[in-house]
Amino acid sequence: MQERKRKALPQATIIERKEITSDLWIMWLKPDQQFKFKPGQYCTIGSGGVERAYSIASAPHEENLELFVELVPLEEGGVLTPLLYELFKGERVTIRPTSKGVFTFSPKFKNHIMVATVTGIAPYISIIRDFIQNGTDDYKFYILYGASYVDELTYDSELYEIAEKHNNSIKFIPTISRPHDPRNINWTGENGRVNSIVEKYIGEFGLKNDNSTIYVCGHPGMIESVKEEFQPQGFSVLEERFWKE
Ligand SMILES: Cc1cc2nc3c(=O)[nH]c(=O)nc-3n(C[C@H](O)[C@H](O)[C@H](O)COP(=O)(O)OP(=O)(O)OC[C@H]3O[C@@H](n4cnc5c(N)ncnc54)[C@H](O)[C@@H]3O)c2cc1C
Repeated sequence: MQERKRKALPQATIIERKEITSDLWIMWLKPDQQFKFKPGQYCTIGSGGVERAYSIASAPHEENLELFVELVPLEEGGVLTPLLYELFKGERVTIRPTSKGVFTFSPKFKNHIMVATVTGIAPYISIIRDFIQNGTDDYKFYILYGASYVDELTYDSELYEIAEKHNNSIKFIPTISRPHDPRNINWTGENGRVNSIVEKYIGEFGLKNDNSTIYVCGHPGMIESVKEEFQPQGFSVLEERFWKE
């Protein structure tokens, strides 16, 4: 009997890679085939037969797919990321032909409170870049971004700049959870985990549950904490969970 061959997955080339810290990097992929997605969705890429999901940080109008990846070392159970970590410009990965996910812009609300830890910023970058390209003035965005260390606050320069330029519609508040660590020595911004500053900024910006929605993306502990606090207050909370604790 003839064996049925599995169809080979489409591939993409790594066009560029930028190191952020020793365990965080951004990479830009050029898929061989056209790849369509909505801002906030994810793609599934692979190497060595292993595949994982990655939120897309680029917006659909951009030429390449931009992914922001954190290394989970082998000794902590990482499988694909130790392989991806060794891949540089010109190397290839597989990519599933369709984008997935429902963590996308919810147009029925005026105010969009976007809460992220480290790599969890990726889908918001896509949504915000798309909004700047195609959006109307009808919406407002409040991006609350947390990390342990200042150098992990990837995309902060872009977000500061966008927030300054669109100061009526976009607010950006980064926070670090280890203010006393020498790595954070010159930090003058917010301190504390990002979930602990959500209430303060909801109050400060006068946001109400009937015209605002909360998005949470990244660390599962942060997601649980925000849901536990704000769902009982009547807020709708949309989540994208990158891993389970
Ligand atoms: C919808 C979706 C979107 C995602 N988007 C991104 C993204 O934009 N960037 C990104 O880096 N990852 C993202 N992830 C996680 C990604 O799919 C992988 O799980 C992650 O890169 C680790 O892959 P791995 O094969 O090395 O380890 P895995 O085999 O996936 O996981 C090994 C262990 O590490 C845990 N783990 C996974 N990720 C982390 C982490 N960041 N920190 C601590 N522990 C972790 C897992 O729960 C597991 O216990 C996303 C996941 C989902 C479901």
